[in-house]
Amino acid sequence: MFLLLLLLQLFLTGQSTAALFPPNNATTHSAALHACDQLQSSLGSSIVQTTGKEYQAGATNAWNLQNCQYQPTCIVFPRTSAHVQTAMKAIYSTGSHYAVQAGSHSAMKGWNTVQDGVLILFTYMKNVSYDPKTDSITLQPGIRWQEAVTALEPFGVAPVGGKDVGTGLLLGGGISFLSPSQGYAADNFKALDVVLVNGEMVTATASNKYSDLFRALKGGGNRFGIYNSSATEALLKATARYTREVNDPNAVLLVALNNIGGEFFSFAGMFYRGSELPAHIFGHFLSIPAVPCSPLNSTVCSPPPPLGPMSYLDVMATQGSENQRGSVQHFGASALDGADEDAYLAAFKHWSNFTATFKDEFALAGMAFTPIPESQVQAGRAKGGNVIAPPRGGWAAVQFGEEMKAGVKDVPSRVQKGLDLLFEQVPPSPRLPLYLGESDPQQKVFQSYGDYELLKQIYTKYDPTRFNMAHTQGPGGL
Ligand SMILES: Cc1cc2nc3c(=O)[nH]c(=O)nc-3n(C[C@H](O)[C@H](O)[C@H](O)COP(=O)(O)OP(=O)(O)OC[C@H]3O[C@@H](n4cnc5c(N)ncnc54)[C@H](O)[C@@H]3O)c2cc1C
Repeated sequence: MFLLLLLLQLFLTGQSTAALFPPNNATTHSAALHACDQLQSSLGSSIVQTTGKEYQAGATNAWNLQNCQYQPTCIVFPRTSAHVQTAMKAIYSTGSHYAVQAGSHSAMKGWNTVQDGVLILFTYMKNVSYDPKTDSITLQPGIRWQEAVTALEPFGVAPVGGKDVGTGLLLGGGISFLSPSQGYAADNFKALDVVLVNGEMVTATASNKYSDLFRALKGGGNRFGIYNSSATEALLKATARYTREVNDPNAVLLVALNNIGGEFFSFAGMFYRGSELPAHIFGHFLSIPAVPCSPLNSTVCSPPPPLGPMSYLDVMATQGSENQRGSVQHFGASALDGADEDAYLAAFKHWSNFTATFKDEFALAGMAFTPIPESQVQAGRAKGGNVIAPPRGGWAAVQFGEEMKAGVKDVPSRVQKGLDLLFEQVPPSPRLPLYLGESDPQQKVFQSYGDYELLKQIYTKYDPTRFNMAHTQGPGGL
């Protein structure tokens, strides 16, 4: 029994019928001051903070160090949906810039924080509950997946979510260990309580008058060296083969290739809901010779867990902790058809050249493949579909990630140029969508969605003045 969810306040956008608070012409700074003054008067100074220990902790809480360098004019710590509504009303009426932060794990610069604006932080909205009658989980936006899974384990249910990142994962669609059988995490939404940019709260479901918004929220984000290793070649070929051939909803594969301080490591995580790892599914991986862990590489290479039964929490623990902070982080994305094995080899070649060129800049650079089987696409369609709308399964979401060395405060422009070249060299296969949660802010993610035109129409309907696009950072293309 895996399911989701009734999720609170996940999307802040505008609605045509109630545009009561048009943005004014005040400068960004004074608009934010005005909003914060209003909010401190109406909500009080413990919910709306401009200085102090909790403010500082909130402003520097982001996983990506770049996002710890902003000083929001104030931070709102809502306790209830009504507080979020009040905050959005003030933000909208003053024309202030704003940002929303849930688990703080966005790699995108400026997407989960704001300078000269209002930051809404969900520190105090972390409830999770399970209703056996409706077989539904209710999550508040501040909860982390690890916390949700731990709290729900006694009920024998689990959310289709991530590890210890936050609920922002759902807004990009969300790729979970459970996705091959359950679809994108967002495919499991049952209802969403949404605060629109003007402060009005609506509940969107698949069948009510906000069904278009409900669909747009499933992927709409906060807008609404040189390679010559034969083992690596075998790993890439096995990954492409798995991606095009395996359509068993009980099987999950994650493949990651890492360059850490100039040393190259690869990892294949194989999981199966059943009593064994079936050889016809994972045999090509199991036959690849693995280099044993040594004291030298023990920080990046730990002995694999013994083959045997694992709980969902055990599976999550195999991925290490996402809580290390204090570094500048960057993500980028591609999507590769499993039928095009050469594209997997070429992607690795280009990525290896990229990491060799910039190895002195990185503490770690990685490339990962997450297969999206046909079963995942069908599970999503059976649950009403999402705006990502992949044409079919049998492809892999590709993630490029870099962690800059300690002391680096931004992604250097020469590295960004290298990344731009890498994205050109490793384009998505025709008609395959990029994954919002793991893309570069400049990549045209929405344009790659199967339902891009529909997403644009829904955006125009709910935010006719384009307030969200003008006042908060996030994906472009609407
Ligand atoms: C180490 C690591 C591992 C990851 N693993 C996975 C994985 O296994 N599967 C996967 O699918 N993704 C994964 N991701 C990507 C992850 O889904 C995204 O980074 C996601 O945005 C994180 O959500 P968050 O709540 O932690 O982040 P935040 O930075 O808090 O939010 C992310 C974005 O969503 C917006 N947002 C958040 N909450 C709201 C809200 N209530 N209303 C409106 N906008 C909101 C923010 O403004 C921001 O733009 C991983 C990321 C990292 C860093």
